[in-house]
Amino acid sequence: MTITDARQHLDVDLLAWLERAPHLQSQDVGVIGRDGGTFDVVDAGTGVPILTLGVASGQEVDAAVTRARASLEDGRWSEADADHREAVLLRLASLVERDFETLVTIEALDTGKPRAEAFYDIREVAMVLRYYAGWCTKVSGDTVAAPRRFAASTLRGPVGVCAAITPWNYPLPILMYKVAPALAFGNSFVAKPSELAPLSALYFAELCAEAGVPDGVLTILTGTGATGAALASHPGLDKMAFTGSTRTGRAVMRAAADNSTRVTLELGGKSPNIVFASADLEAAAAGVAAGIWTNAGQVCVAGSRLLVESSIADEFVTLLAERTRPIALGHALEPGSEMGPMISAAQLEKAEATIALALAEGATAVTGGTTLGRSGYFLEPTVLTGLPTDHRISQEEIFGPVLVVDTFDSEQEATAKGNATPYGLAAGVWTTRSGQGQRMARALSAGSVWINTYGVFHPTLPFGGTKSSGFGRELGRAAVDAYTETTTVVEDIGLA
Ligand code: NAD
Repeated sequence: MTITDARQHLDVDLLAWLERAPHLQSQDVGVIGRDGGTFDVVDAGTGVPILTLGVASGQEVDAAVTRARASLEDGRWSEADADHREAVLLRLASLVERDFETLVTIEALDTGKPRAEAFYDIREVAMVLRYYAGWCTKVSGDTVAAPRRFAASTLRGPVGVCAAITPWNYPLPILMYKVAPALAFGNSFVAKPSELAPLSALYFAELCAEAGVPDGVLTILTGTGATGAALASHPGLDKMAFTGSTRTGRAVMRAAADNSTRVTLELGGKSPNIVFASADLEAAAAGVAAGIWTNAGQVCVAGSRLLVESSIADEFVTLLAERTRPIALGHALEPGSEMGPMISAAQLEKAEATIALALAEGATAVTGGTTLGRSGYFLEPTVLTGLPTDHRISQEEIFGPVLVVDTFDSEQEATAKGNATPYGLAAGVWTTRSGQGQRMARALSAGSVWINTYGVFHPTLPFGGTKSSGFGRELGRAAVDAYTETTTVVEDIGLA
């Protein structure tokens, strides 16, 4: 089955919701975006627009921040008992589970990833909500040791009006890494999802209203980069959490600097998957393949560089190619589809141009290198060998299904090559030698190092980058600090 119009494959309820989605701003569920023009939401699997949404203008961004500030100050959420916030977040998780299949389809359609992949994304959304619901009643200040004359303690309260600008590739999970802890600790929130995949955020706004999140506590701004820029430079924010490309992240940081808004940046990567000769090669090949082909390589932590010990390089690349060639490319809603398209024509063209350059400069395509002869932005999974570590293609994030292979002869060389990019988001190490994985974890500049596995995410595991991959950590206990403000209270109690 080849899908040419995804709408023909949607159930009537979802079709009805898609009809309604462009009008949500008039339905009082905290969606704003009308005055700054329009943009099309396109099905990447066919290239056909699904619907048209409004762009939030600068004035509408201002209205969203004002709305959030008013909700913070009225105290209905920021001063609510923690167990009330816990109950609302748990209800929200249950609503996500109630509408699970719908959300999976929306996320698959919007991003182009197969439904089977979107399944894990929506499951993660519910898990993150439940995890931070648990934190609501567990966070408190400390009693602090101080000179005898004083009684000292700390209080923890909300940071204030928090904002997020998010990318298209894991739309609802990445939003949840920010929204769930922010709401857990009483903050108000303004979010600008990517124009390439905004739909699940709109659906989530309706679920928040249904779960009992008070008006104004969550606002979703629909819009493009201009809306994001207006939000990033707004003086009314207390915190900005950005996830996206390194280039945009730097612009967001510059804009936030003018208002002293605290910023966390989750940016791009060029992560190495490092395979030693001692590794279980079948397991490593499966892990390396999943690490780069998941979401068609459009993953911040994509293991887009394979570093393999020279003595097993040919054998390993053959194993990897055997796993790669049968991958079924297809539309997100096609049963059996294992890899979707790239997100846009522009991204596809960029990846094709990069591959062409690599081939012209001496690379060999072990697999792929070409597009599919069908509509949609499909690129075959491509394994390239024969390029030096400092070649552009080994240094720059492509954000597509392209894996560059390089070799090493020692642990030291593996470390040096692993660290030899501007990025530091993640790394994989495949080895059975005792202590080798732990040594590598200490030597690699990466926010996450996975040993004999790859790409493990869980609400308990802090996540973030180093170097040009950004700073700050999300998830786990790290988000408690990110979304609470500490006040130190000192009282003179008159003891000599
Ligand atoms: P992008 O930077 O193009 O866009 C991200 C968001 O920024 C979008 O909402 C966009 O509208 C907005 N934006 C664009 N210009 C802006 C501006 N001048 N000011 C403010 N906002 C602006 O990224 P993308 O293509 O959506 O996502 C892919 C990138 O995101 C990749 O580089 C990937 O590695 C990165 N990413 C990082 C993580 C992480 O956790 N480290 C996770 C997912 C994706």
